[in-house]
Amino acid sequence: MKSVDAHLAEILATVRPLAPLELELEQTLGTTLAEDVSSPVPLPPFDNSAMDGYAVRVEDLSEIPVTLPVIDDVAAGSLELRAVGPGHAVRIMTGAPLPAGADVVVPVEWTDGGTVSVRIDRRAEAGNAIRRAGEDVQTGEIVLKAGTVIGPAQLGIIAGVGRRRVWARPRPRVVVISTGAELVEPGGPLQPGQIWDSNSYTLTAAVREVGAEGFRAGSVGDDPGMLLDRLDTHLMRADAIITSGGVSMGAYEPVKEALSPLGTVRFEKVAMQPGMPQGFGVLGDDQVPIFALPGNPVSSFVSFMLFVRPALDRMRGLPGGMPETVTARTTGPLRSPSGRRSYLRGVLAADGTVSPAHGQGSHQLAALASANALIVVPEDVTEVEAGASVEVVRL
Ligand code: AMP
Ligand code: MG
Repeated sequence: MKSVDAHLAEILATVRPLAPLELELEQTLGTTLAEDVSSPVPLPPFDNSAMDGYAVRVEDLSEIPVTLPVIDDVAAGSLELRAVGPGHAVRIMTGAPLPAGADVVVPVEWTDGGTVSVRIDRRAEAGNAIRRAGEDVQTGEIVLKAGTVIGPAQLGIIAGVGRRRVWARPRPRVVVISTGAELVEPGGPLQPGQIWDSNSYTLTAAVREVGAEGFRAGSVGDDPGMLLDRLDTHLMRADAIITSGGVSMGAYEPVKEALSPLGTVRFEKVAMQPGMPQGFGVLGDDQVPIFALPGNPVSSFVSFMLFVRPALDRMRGLPGGMPETVTARTTGPLRSPSGRRSYLRGVLAADGTVSPAHGQGSHQLAALASANALIVVPEDVTEVEAGASVEVVRL
């Protein structure tokens, strides 16, 4: 049997970062920057007021209270500014440019708020409530480095330095296909022997959660020909494909039957539980990676976490490796088959304990849904006592 680490290593050696595209700002959320972004101007671009108040000369505040004539009103965006002479005040709003001559802004709360003249009741120090040009960013300074994932704040600073488009690696487009003659769409009735298709929903959601674009391409029964047709339809617009089911040792294994003859997809036993049967390879001229995951719902989800997620990270231009673990104390005993790495479902609590879920079968999706962690039991361990330290992957 192939080890989990060897299987992941093979996957990571095969998948490549997607080529960068020049994307419109609105399209960049969740993409990975492929260039350093710098600012063509200082930010803020000019000295401006941090508060609503009055711009004055600090020497006019030596005796408090003081009443000064208000000679002008400046709002954010004001173009024409009158200088503040000795003994003058200018009413100023947050973000408005600081008029020449002024070296302090007195907040409106420290005054009577007058518009013809203003009485100032409290002394402010020079520079008070003034935001200086370049305080945030200097001209030419790099504000985001290549390799940064663009979230809302990163998107904001790209706009804030005046860019409409940036070079970024797009979110991988991932097509999810489920197989199984027993599957029906949720929402319809179940006939005897049927179950509702949950994997295609789980996997598409998992794809989206890790920052890629998921397309659910439905179910193809157990017909290898139909699977090949469906793959043909979707290969053009896919950066990766995930299938569920049809990869184990029985009859009616449409994924294995359809893809084995191509010679570019390998089906193997990986030394893990759940999720032993795994297929991986590439399809078509573009060598689109395909992950043929086992059909049991917990198996396909765990396989996604261990193999697909790091691959999608790599395609996004991120490092991509084994999920991080934390150490916890198990509240109950654990069992694991010899020679296989187990990923048991558990509930990790704030006190550093993890409670194994009731129902560790690979079909027990409800137990997975009630868990927030996977407890890792190494290959050479078959039993873990309650109270022992274990490594845990947070979900
Ligand atoms: P397979 O890998 O196709 O042999 O399927 C293994 C088990 O997983 C069987 O009990 C299937 O009914 C179940 N299964 C396969 N695909 C799905 C799916 N999309 N949703 C829920 N269960 C599934
Ligand atoms: Mg099946």
